[in-house]
Amino acid sequence: MKVDVTYSCGHVGEIEVYGERSKREWMIRRASEGICEECQLKQDLARIEELKTEQEALGLPELTGSDKVYVRKGGYVHRKTFLAAMENFIAMCAGTEGGRMAVCRELKPFGSNDEQRAYYAKKNVQMAKAIKEAMLRITSASYWNSLMVVEQDMIDFTRLLSDYYSENKSLIDQMIKAAESGDGTPVEDPIITAEPDDPKTTSVAEIVVTEECVRLYSPKDDTIIEAARKLRMQWLKSYWGLSKTVRTGDMMERAREVIATLLSRGIPVKADRELIADAIAGKYEPYTPRWVTARGDSLIVWLDGNDDLYYSAKKLKGAEYDGGCFRVPLTSWREVADFARFNNYKISDKAEASMERAKEEEHQRMAVGTVKVKAPDKRTEKDTLKDLLNSSTEVLDDLKDS
Ligand SMILES: [Zn+2]
Repeated sequence: MKVDVTYSCGHVGEIEVYGERSKREWMIRRASEGICEECQLKQDLARIEELKTEQEALGLPELTGSDKVYVRKGGYVHRKTFLAAMENFIAMCAGTEGGRMAVCRELKPFGSNDEQRAYYAKKNVQMAKAIKEAMLRITSASYWNSLMVVEQDMIDFTRLLSDYYSENKSLIDQMIKAAESGDGTPVEDPIITAEPDDPKTTSVAEIVVTEECVRLYSPKDDTIIEAARKLRMQWLKSYWGLSKTVRTGDMMERAREVIATLLSRGIPVKADRELIADAIAGKYEPYTPRWVTARGDSLIVWLDGNDDLYYSAKKLKGAEYDGGCFRVPLTSWREVADFARFNNYKISDKAEASMERAKEEEHQRMAVGTVKVKAPDKRTEKDTLKDLLNSSTEVLDDLKDS
């Protein structure tokens, strides 16, 4: 039932209560201790202004990319916590114990003498400073809002830095190098914003690549949403993500393709300078759904909706349809390899290893000669092509001409 409540700010509002009398009373009491939605919003906006002014005084840029108040507030709050934790961390690195700490897994600390420890302390400070500088360049409110920093928890904090470093190795290394040379020349910002030839929106899509995912951060924008969907990206709470699977290939390749697609659709892109250059130059392997992967003792031949492909894959010895793919026994590896070659399939590392193993086993069985085995498939590429041609389909008519 609905009841009127006087909030602590003095405003009156209506809330929905239910349950037993004691529970209803508790709900009313709890609501009256709080403030109304409008006052809460005012308070949050004031807090954002306060944090923004404070952080601007430190030379930090305004957070952008979200019109949600709680996201922007969370962003400023977390960036403040991050900054404090980072200062604390850098001081610790520079201190007497600095040489015993590791900012990143890649840095091996624990020098065995004072000289080595001093070296690692210096390296740690350099790296921590570079990571700090790089992270503070990120202006996405969503990014900061989702960044959980617990100031007291050094283990979690170093893990955060370590992860950031492994995801942005080239950027950080470049920044450390620049800091080391220390000749005062300004470092070229490796993150740039590329403008499309024919802009369709003013919103900028920010691309961050991790080993597992290509992330797209942006304000809510229909043009970007449509492009993200087209790129098979999924909304993952605070960003559009293209997650790594057995069929996506290298994430850097996917990032270049994502950038090229966004630009071609008239969307400005903020990303690593080199990634953008490669994307514009078309230096990437386009995504293909055509993959041979491995699962247990089977090879998996994925389909892409092409009927001809379905019928030729179906002919693979022992092939069983399994919803969107064919499961083929490893013993048919030779046929699968031929099929892959003719149809421009990619073979995953795992499938490659499985096929290699099957080949080895075949050789061994033949060499030992004690076990009677079926003669290996002697079919040549030509035979397989003939088979394919006999299956007479339109795609294959093209092949005949060539
Ligand atoms: Zn109020």
